[in-house]
Amino acid sequence: MKKYIYLDNNATTAVASEVFETLKPYLLDDYFNPGGMYSAAQGPAEAITRARTAVAGFLGGVNPSEIIFTSCATESNNAAIFGTINANPNRRHIITCAVEHPAVLQTCKEAERYGCSVTFIPVDRNGEINLDEYVRALSEETLLVSLIHANNETGVIFPIAKLARIAKEVDKQILFHSDATQSMGKLPIDLRTDSEIDMISFSGHKMYAPKGVGALFMRRGTRCRPTMIGGHQENGHRAGTQNVAFIAALGKACELAGECMKEERSIQELRDRLQNAIIEKIPAVEVNGRDAPRLPNTLNIACHGVEGEAILYELDEYGICASSGSACTSGSLDSSHVLNAMKVPFSAIHGSVRFSIGRYNTSEEIDRVIEVFPSVIERLRKMSPFWDNKTNRLNMDHSELNG
Ligand code: PLP
Repeated sequence: MKKYIYLDNNATTAVASEVFETLKPYLLDDYFNPGGMYSAAQGPAEAITRARTAVAGFLGGVNPSEIIFTSCATESNNAAIFGTINANPNRRHIITCAVEHPAVLQTCKEAERYGCSVTFIPVDRNGEINLDEYVRALSEETLLVSLIHANNETGVIFPIAKLARIAKEVDKQILFHSDATQSMGKLPIDLRTDSEIDMISFSGHKMYAPKGVGALFMRRGTRCRPTMIGGHQENGHRAGTQNVAFIAALGKACELAGECMKEERSIQELRDRLQNAIIEKIPAVEVNGRDAPRLPNTLNIACHGVEGEAILYELDEYGICASSGSACTSGSLDSSHVLNAMKVPFSAIHGSVRFSIGRYNTSEEIDRVIEVFPSVIERLRKMSPFWDNKTNRLNMDHSELNG
């Protein structure tokens, strides 16, 4: 098999071997339905209990009964948003942000069809939330605030504990949800201390567990109805026979993440080395979200005068996997809604690529990218009508396209 340099860990991660070993018996030997009344079902049932305890522990020691296993973060986000709408018919105002993942953004837009009014809070040029507009939007009419913890494209981190506190100061009844899919396993999350946060969503496959499992933390007493109906599983919060193997995997991934987060320093060192080398070697590049607090593993870099897709295609020739926009919007020609919301200029949006480093990347791999990337950009700029090769600057004849 071709050897890749995989730098798209915000899209998905490899399954850790320890995680794979944990899940395997529940596919091959201990395959019993955890709801069965025979003793063989005890193993799978206990595996779910263990995983729930591990996830709860990883989130700061919350009560395990507050963890609901789902199929992915998209499901968790839908369950949080539609579940609160269904449980609270007297409130119809939702607050979210322009840079959310589509799993929240489009779900909130769908909520408008159910009679909700949604306020989409803008961000500044760094990708940070406009606090004044957020505070202005909150009211006693507000049902739910849903704000992303760390952005999947730029890595920009929102101060969710503070944002939740502000919401509760306006009205204790406002529910606060955060999509923490990108921060889980990369940033510490303590939901016992940050008690104003009512719900968070995440997916296993961003943290070295398989695709097809996720979770929703829902604080006890949160007014939220189940959206998956037809069984008593997950304490009545999510019907359907549990995916025992993958739930066990998610529990193990949380245990490992606790240990591996200590190594995030070295991931940040790799990211910073890549960032500094690119800035030093390539003219007219900028780091999207550079002046905001960012995830230690994410580098979103805008290369003026070239197309992100062309960059990815060239990198692929060298076996380097990166992405432009989010994994979910790549494949469409729409430019990134996140970079648009940050008012990144036209030529920078179209030349933006994201490198996201993971646990298994090595220093040698980063060296190879540092070696290859400048020549890729140089070659593409030679062919670009947006680049003036004489001055080695953006072609000002096309400046009307900026903004
Ligand atoms: N939220 C964020 C921030 C994400 O980055 C992603 C995936 O990229 C999702 C939600 C959706 O995750 P999944 O496809 O596992 O449901």
